[in-house]
Amino acid sequence: MTTFNKTEEEWKAMLDPEQYNVCRLKATERPFTGKYNSTKTDGVYHCVCCNAALFDSTTKFDSGCGWPSFYAPIEDSAMVEIRDTSHGMIRTEVTCAACAAHLGHVFPDGPPPTGLRYCINSVCLDLVPRTVE
Ligand SMILES: [Zn+2]
Repeated sequence: MTTFNKTEEEWKAMLDPEQYNVCRLKATERPFTGKYNSTKTDGVYHCVCCNAALFDSTTKFDSGCGWPSFYAPIEDSAMVEIRDTSHGMIRTEVTCAACAAHLGHVFPDGPPPTGLRYCINSVCLDLVPRTVE
């Protein structure tokens, strides 16, 4: 895989403004506005910045929080968790392991089997529907 140590200018040229704000500047899209908030399509969600596979739709659940939510990453190595103390809260930020894009946060209030809720911005994701052979 290519390395994704692009400059800010290169990211800016590649991503649309909202993707850039969320993925590179760690903004958060407004709840219930994201294109994948209530998507039930079967497939794999990829990183919009580098195309790494991040989540399988089989782990997506309806959390009601306003962002696409998953109870597990597609592989533990697909993302990196970082302690985030911004905005007066202690949260765990989730970033793409391949390109360091900000994806969202993980909270310990998800469903079984993991008990985790990966609360992810839609703009960081690109859903590739599964083709049934
Ligand atoms: Zn990525």
